[in-house]
Amino acid sequence: MLQRPTLPEKDVYTLADLASWPDTGTWLAVLGQPIRHSLSPAMHGAALAAMAVRDARFRDWRYVRFEVAPAELPAALKAFHEKGFRGLNLTVPHKVLAFGLVKKIDPAAQPVGAVNTLRSTAEGWEGFNTDGHGLAHGLSDELGATLRDSHIILLGAGGAARGAAVECLQQACASLWIANRTQGNLDTLLQALQPLAGGRRVQGFDPRQPPAELPAGALVINATSAGLKEADPRPIDLALLPRPAGVYDMIYNPAETGLLTDARARGLPSANGLSMLVHQGARSLEIWSGVEVPVEAMKKAVKNTLGR
Ligand code: NDP
Repeated sequence: MLQRPTLPEKDVYTLADLASWPDTGTWLAVLGQPIRHSLSPAMHGAALAAMAVRDARFRDWRYVRFEVAPAELPAALKAFHEKGFRGLNLTVPHKVLAFGLVKKIDPAAQPVGAVNTLRSTAEGWEGFNTDGHGLAHGLSDELGATLRDSHIILLGAGGAARGAAVECLQQACASLWIANRTQGNLDTLLQALQPLAGGRRVQGFDPRQPPAELPAGALVINATSAGLKEADPRPIDLALLPRPAGVYDMIYNPAETGLLTDARARGLPSANGLSMLVHQGARSLEIWSGVEVPVEAMKKAVKNTLGR
């Protein structure tokens, strides 16, 4: 029977801890800064516990969090690989940086320019981006919606928006309308997406002045960080849009942003980003384990941790 590895129990590890890392066990970790509030250890821990019940191979798998500064990332990736870690998740601020540091990139992640999941191979790390998968499955679970053939109104032009836009185009959405506060950031994103447009309409606009041609029945996806704080403005006024089919906010904490409150008041189907978080994590664990993973156990663990 496989033994659970022993190491000092800590909420957050640092690179200094790697020097005395046990050489038994199968290790997974999330790297970020700050990392203390990451929900990933609870989510993956719950999945691994359930997986270990039906398959002894997973009894020595553990998932931990590491505080890693951007300047430390190149050395950190080398050290985690040498220590034999099976997989890593990357969160703020490492997703773009790691893209340039890994040996191989999954072709689907190439146009995203960012990776959130690394799998160890003999040659080095292989990078994936599971955020798009998370979004697509979150939309399907919560709103019964598909990206394919849908008109999408995407809010934001940062990293999350870029991942979402690439997924929308890879999944053959009907059209993609992107609103962002800062025109320069919007232009950069639109330019990066051009090679993927494939004849579809991909158009930017100012969220304060939505164009008259916006389609009714679109899915509105918030990929801005507006709504994380109570005092934040709405990323868009839903009253300025033709009636959408639904509103999905990638933010999951708070559970209901101002945008979601507005959607509810208008009787629109709506959901927060918790399902996206869970599905991107589930996909990472599938990549590392090669088996189907218990998504419901992961969702329950995240909800418990958030006190919902
Ligand atoms: P970035 O910092 O890369 O981008 C932030 C975006 O938000 C930019 O488009 C920025 O616009 C916009 N923005 C910020 N503040 C405001 C504001 N007050 N009003 C209008 N627009 C604003 O962040 P990310 O792309 O990494 O993350 C965006 C959000 O997505 C975060 O809330 C994050 O938590 C969430 N997320 C959720 C995930 C999940 O699994 N559910 C996964 C990944 C991200 P501008 O260009 O004008 O500055």
